[in-house]
Order: sequence, then structure tokens, then C-alpha cells
Amino acid sequence: MGTLTALRDDLDRGAAQRRMRARLEALYPICRSITGDGVRASLEILGSDLPLEMHEVPSGTKVLDWTVPQEWNVHDAFIADVDGRRVVDFGESNLHLVSYSIPFRQRITRAELDGHLHSLPELPKSVPYRTAYYDASWGFCVSEQQRSALHDAEYEVVVDTTLTDGALTYGEALLEGIENTAEILLTTHVCHPSLANDNCSGMALLAEVGRLLASTEHRYSYRLLFIPGTIGSITWLARNEMHLNRIRHGIVLAGVGDRGPLTYKRSRREDAIVDRAATHTLRHAGASHRVLDFSPYGYDERQFCSPGFDLPVGRLGRSPHGEYPEYHTSADDLAFVDDEALLGSLDTLLAVLDVLEGNGTYRNTQPKGEPQLGRRGLYRSIGGVPNLEAVEFALLWVLNQSDGTRSLLDIAERSGLPFPAVRSAADALLKHELLVEERDQD
Ligand code: ZN
Repeated sequence: MGTLTALRDDLDRGAAQRRMRARLEALYPICRSITGDGVRASLEILGSDLPLEMHEVPSGTKVLDWTVPQEWNVHDAFIADVDGRRVVDFGESNLHLVSYSIPFRQRITRAELDGHLHSLPELPKSVPYRTAYYDASWGFCVSEQQRSALHDAEYEVVVDTTLTDGALTYGEALLEGIENTAEILLTTHVCHPSLANDNCSGMALLAEVGRLLASTEHRYSYRLLFIPGTIGSITWLARNEMHLNRIRHGIVLAGVGDRGPLTYKRSRREDAIVDRAATHTLRHAGASHRVLDFSPYGYDERQFCSPGFDLPVGRLGRSPHGEYPEYHTSADDLAFVDDEALLGSLDTLLAVLDVLEGNGTYRNTQPKGEPQLGRRGLYRSIGGVPNLEAVEFALLWVLNQSDGTRSLLDIAERSGLPFPAVRSAADALLKHELLVEERDQD
């Protein structure tokens, strides 16, 4: 098995792209929510590419300040007109039913029905995505066009759902590192129905990363979580509180497939190593990108970065939630996810992980004056840098800064050189015994 750096160099990007698209298409039609068979069906698909363990946490379980809710499943749901024609049908799109709608079966007036309809006047063709996890109600989401076409005096409403004591399901995979048990946590949410960018893209990408890491040697252990948003991360944190000190770095993946620029949101710590590695990687990637400061809203970074945990967990995505009109609507469909964008997100994530894997602290064994580099043939031994001048810069920076207190990431930041050049220089200097590793990072 090769290293992550070698994997990135040799990656069959076309094949990775095709695998992610295939997962996306398999996951998209499934009706997921924070509990239920849709999550299980999704984890089945994802588990074909990595050693995914399915966990079931019973309804009613106390998790931090929350309680695992009853399990929700849908058998059928529709609104039929006086002729019995289904004018709104869950079978056509699972977005039509408000998630966690309670069972209901009755003929009601058009006016009464209206109070249970959700639409988007500003986006008349799109169906919104709505949830009612904790308020025991039912509702349907329709396009503004569908809504305005409902002219009958009465409609038959059928919400054939079940809310029963069952379980909350999440998936977890541990890919063990070769050196130690320190972990990198990678998570994504699995609780939205047919929304392609907002949940399917994260699942498709994280499964791909897991598949690739499983065939690679890595220093860290990787813990991958496929969890329902909020209640899933709270449940996982409640069950794993004793082991959180193993987590050295973490990234939440969300909305990684739209055409917007890559966006990294810093952890609550703001300058955790993962924050610096991601910022450094985006800065050197050349493409437009954004780095956002931490805020206590968004995806599951909210829970990982709550003050009682304060884990070094940032978030990687593209257009932030709520900042694009397709967000939480039927327009977030399979065509909204761009294969090149998804692949770019994969490339970036792997590059960030490569920095985390390759970071370390060293000591110059010849610190008095510069060692004579030409005599040792060092200039010819470096890869990954554009020209001889950059090679020399990288060697001199690493030698000068490696006093046992500064990491390679510190040196990359201070020198302005890309991390791979600094890492490559350190490898050459190690080979010539001009550097020794100061200490294992963990
Ligand atoms: Zn969402």
C-alpha cells in the first residue's frame, strides 16, 4: 500500500468521478429523515464501498439534552381530488410530504387543506423541503403552480405514516492508522430526502474518501460518520464522550457538489491545525475559495464545536446553506450537482488530509551555519516543486526553522511555499540526516 501522497498522484480521477455519480444517483430517490428505513437503505448503499457499521439507538434514549425520537416511516401519502385523482403524490417526489408528518386520513375542505400546504411564491416551480420533527403535525409541500391549480371544494388527504418506538440509525467506519490511534473525524449528514447537494453529495464524497483511504497507508486512524443532522451528532457525541480525546482533527462535509467556490468554515478554535491546513490548501490551490470564521449555526460542526467538546472540527463545502436559491427545494436535484465540482471537493479534501498526514516537527542536526547542500546532491533530490530556486528555498526554510518547535505547516505558512514542497524538502533532508524528527505529533 502506498501513501496518501502517492494515492493523490496516481488517482484515477475519472473512475472516482463515476463512482461518486453512481452513489449520488442511487441515494437521491430514497426518502431519508432523521430516523427510519431510508437512512438504513442509504447506509446499505454506502457500506458496499467501506467497512461501515450500522448503529441503532432506541427511541427514548437520553442523549445529552435531547431524547432519541420515535422512528418515522412512510408507506404512502397523497392528496386526491373529488374524482380520486392524486394531485399531490409522495410517490412522485418524497419532498411532497413534510418530514415526520403524523398519520392522517380524511376528506377536508380546500380552505382547511391550505393551512397544511407549503410552497414558495418566489420560486413557483420548486417544491420546498420542510420538516416537523418535534411538533406532531402533518403537511404537504407543493410548487406554487400546483397549489394554485387546486380548485376543488374538498380533497381527500392520506398520510399513511408510522411513528413508533424504533431507533435512530447511523453509520460509522473506522479505518485504522499504521502508527497510532489518534483519529481524524470525517462526518456528513444523511437525513434529507431527495436533495442532491444538501446530503447526497456529502455521502457520495465521504464514501469515496473512505474507499480510497482503505487502500492507502495512513498515519492517523480515520473515523467516518454518516449521521442524521443535529440529533445524530448529539447521539454519537453522547455515546462516545469518553473517547473524544482521540480526535486530533475533524471535518464536516456538507454541500460539496454545487458549482460555487470551495468554502471552509473554521472550527470554534479558529486556528486549529485543521483550520490552518485547510486554509493553506485552499490558498495554494489557485481556484477561488472562501474561508469563513466560526459561527454557531450551520451543520454538525455546531455540536462538535459546542463549548463542552470544543473539538478541532471545521466544515468543508461549496455554497453555504441558505445562500443559494436551490437550497432546500426540489431544484437541488441530480443536475444541480456538478461532477467536476464534486471531484474538486474530493481533490481538496485529500490535499488537506495529506497536509495533516505529512505534518511533523523536526530538528536541524547542523544548526550552526548552513550545511553545504550542493556537496550532498540535495538540489537534485526534490520533487513537487516548480524550479530549482523553489527547491533551494524549501530546503533553506526547513533547515532554518526546524529547531524542534516549528512544524512543517508552520514553515509552509511562514515561507509562503506550498506544503508539498516543504514536506518534500524535509524528506530529502531526513534522508541526508540533516534533520531528525523531534517528536511524534501525538
Ligand atoms: Zn439541509
